[in-house]
Order: sequence, then C-alpha cells, then structure tokens
Amino acid sequence: MSRVLVIGCGGVANVAIRKCCMVPEVFTELCIASRTKSKCDALAAELKDKTTTKITTARVNADSVEELCALINSYKPDLVMNIALPYQDLSIMEACLRCGVNYMDTANYEPEDTDDPEWRKVYDKRCKEKGFSAYFDYSWQWAYREKFEKAGLTALLGCGFDPGVTQAYCAYAKKHEFDEIDTIDILDCNGGDHGYAFATNFNPEVNLREVSAPGSYWEDGHWVEIPAMSIKREYDFDQVGGKDMYLLHHEEIESLAENIPEVKRIRFFMTFGQSYLTHMKCLENVGMLSTTPINFEGHEIVPIKFLKALLPDPASLGPRTHGKTNIGCIFTGRKDGKEKSWYIYNVCDHQECYREVASQAISYTTGVPAMCGALMMLTGKWIQPGVHTVEEFDPDPFLDALDQHGLPRSICADPVLVP
Ligand code: NDP
Repeated sequence: MSRVLVIGCGGVANVAIRKCCMVPEVFTELCIASRTKSKCDALAAELKDKTTTKITTARVNADSVEELCALINSYKPDLVMNIALPYQDLSIMEACLRCGVNYMDTANYEPEDTDDPEWRKVYDKRCKEKGFSAYFDYSWQWAYREKFEKAGLTALLGCGFDPGVTQAYCAYAKKHEFDEIDTIDILDCNGGDHGYAFATNFNPEVNLREVSAPGSYWEDGHWVEIPAMSIKREYDFDQVGGKDMYLLHHEEIESLAENIPEVKRIRFFMTFGQSYLTHMKCLENVGMLSTTPINFEGHEIVPIKFLKALLPDPASLGPRTHGKTNIGCIFTGRKDGKEKSWYIYNVCDHQECYREVASQAISYTTGVPAMCGALMMLTGKWIQPGVHTVEEFDPDPFLDALDQHGLPRSICADPVLVP
C-alpha cells in the first residue's frame, strides 16, 4: 500500500505511470502532477478503467519549492518520483527534504540557464578541478547527502536505463562475476528508425546538449576529455547489427569511478546515424543549440527552445519507430585468479513497446527502470538514508524486477571487446 507523487507527464513519465498501474498492489494511489495539467488528466482518464490504482492529478510548477511543498503536504506521498526535467532536480529534492519524503529521479541536475553567474562559478571550478566540461555532474545533488542522511530520507538518483540499469549491471558484475573489474564499456545502441531526417528520442534540449558537449572518459584515476564525437568505433550489436558509435561523457561514469575505485577505465559509447550527426552539426554551427536568449522582432527567444518547438514531439515517435535498442555493459577483469570478459545487456523492440504502453523504446527503457526503482524503495529493499546512485544498492531484486516487467537481461560470456 503506497501513495506516490509523480512529477512530470512527458514521454518517460507516461511509461513509468502506465507500468506503476500494472502493479496496483504496491502502487495503490498515484498523483500525477505537472506543468500542463491537461496532459495528466488525459492519461488519468485513459487509465481509469484499466487499473485499480487510484489516480488523481494536479498542476505544479516544479521550479517553485513553495508550490511543491504545498502539493506534497496536501497529498502526503510516501515517495516523490521526479520524471520532469533535470532542471527541476534541486527544487524537488529541497521540497522532499522540507516535507520529509523519499525522492527519486532519472537524470542528474543541470541548470536550464547555463549563463547563470552563480552556477557558472561552480561549473568553471569543477572543469578545472575535475577536468570534464559537461553541463551536468553529481556535485549539486551529492551536496544533499548529509541533509538527507540526517533527515532519515533516501534519495535515489538516475534510475533510468543509462544512468540506472547500467549501474545495476556494474553492481551485479562486481557481486557475482568478478573479484576485480579492470574496464567497463557502456554501449548504448538505438537501432530504431522513425522515418524522419532528424528527431530526438527524448527531450530535444537535454538530448542535444548531451551529444554536442565534449566527450570524456575515466582512465587511471582521472578524466580524459576529447572534442565532441572525436572517438568513433564500430560494434556488431546482438539483434541490431553493425553500428557506428561515439564516445560521450555520461553521468554514471562519475559515480562508478567513485563506487568501484579499482576500475582502471570507464567509457560510454552511443550509436548515431550519419543523418542525425550532419543535422546536429549544422544546427550547432548556425547557433540553434544555444541556450542564450536572442531578441527576434521584439520577442525574446531561446534558440534551442524554438528548435524544440519545431522538432517532432518524442512522444509522437512511438507508432513510427521500428527496430530495436541494445544497451549494456562489457567488463574485463579477474575471477578466481583468471582473466575474463563478460557482457550483460537488454534488447528492446520499439514496436512491442508501442503495443504495450503506446511509446517507443527510449521512453520505455527509461520509464520501466523508474517504476522498478520506485518498487525497490516502496518495498523497503532500497531504503538507506542519504543520496545514492543505483550501483550502491543490491542489484539482484532490481534486475529480477526488470526481467519481470519488460526489460530482461541477456548475457554473453566471451564478448568481442571494443578497441
Ligand atoms: P519530456 O520533455 O517528454 O517531459 C518532461 C515533463 O516534465 C513534461 O510533462 C513537462 O511538462 C514537465 N515539466 C517540465 N518543466 C516543468 C516544471 N517546471 N514544472 C512541472 N513540470 C514540468 O521529457 P522526457 O519524458 O523525455 O524525460 C524525462 C526525464 O527523463 C528527463 O530528466 C530526462 O533527462 C530523463 N531521461 C533519462 C534517461 C535515462 O536513461 N536515465 C533517458 C531518457 C530521458 P509540459 O508538458 O508542460 O512540458
């Protein structure tokens, strides 16, 4: 029996909410709250006769701690699932802390306004000290560790697929397959095709910022930064086939380097088609990825927000997308004195996702882990006061839940390694 407040009602939240409603014995009551209440009402109306979960809706501006506190204090949830945007992570964490509620999200904090002088100061210092320059990092949310611990509250960060399941794969490898892990390669392949020359599979602003930033990886105790898209590899993915993939900075590298300190190298690769890359480069060159407002015919517009309005809504890609995703981790290291390599991954079919929850596989592979993470917290398996990432918890019940709820693992005992 639980009451859960879900904040956000976009592509990922739609999947997570539909999946929560398939486990009504745990998710007994849900409140869906977002900026645009009509979207919450439409989803609640659609689910009304399909589940025994009691659903209510609310409007909330999640940038306002006061509005969030008023909603939390009136609904009194056991858990707040933040499935809005990374921009809202800190305000929602702050509200949870003030109201005494456990918290979870699917992506780590980054500011909406990257020109904000206060944020910029911390960002510049971090770039110098740590040596990577992506806009997002864990420092802002890790700053809440002591406060959550003292309040006896649990915050679970980044419980989507990557970050999220990839870290559970690492915890599983460490627990069952290796005595020592030397290298981790996280491989994120989307073999899907939506038929558009250019569209992003999740929030365009967040996606384009991530992809256009310099890449970086962890090696021998420090970050190595490289120009965006400058390391390319080819890989033959199970059930997808050969794809080009590029090294990106990704948030879970930071927490994995801290939590599995013996690892010598951690890299993250994502596949991209040539059409996507050509469009992105062109948009970047003409300034359309900028977050700095410009004045256009008397109106202030933010170029990347205007671009978002022009691009297809990721939620609309579901019926058009065919093909599969393949996301997982390749490890090298030692077990019982012997060298070994090992690969764990999930393959997910876009059209099967659409038939089940009216969404493509990118939102599905994020929304299902969010539901399973909430399930772990609500059933007490992943409750530990403080602010934690997925690899800090027991991976076994989480991976069992993923197997059961639509994202089963596949294992390859002797994989081809990435050069
Ligand atoms: P969408 O843009 O589709 O949805 C975002 C939702 O948040 C919308 O409902 C939006 O409302 C709402 N929202 C935005 N700002 C506010 C606000 N100030 N107050 C209240 N609600 C607000 O994004 P996605 O569903 O694609 O992504 C959701 C999250 O999942 C993001 O944080 C993203 O980074 C993360 N993600 C994580 C992945 C992983 O593997 N870990 C992979 C993919 C995504 P409105 O309808 O009014 O716009």
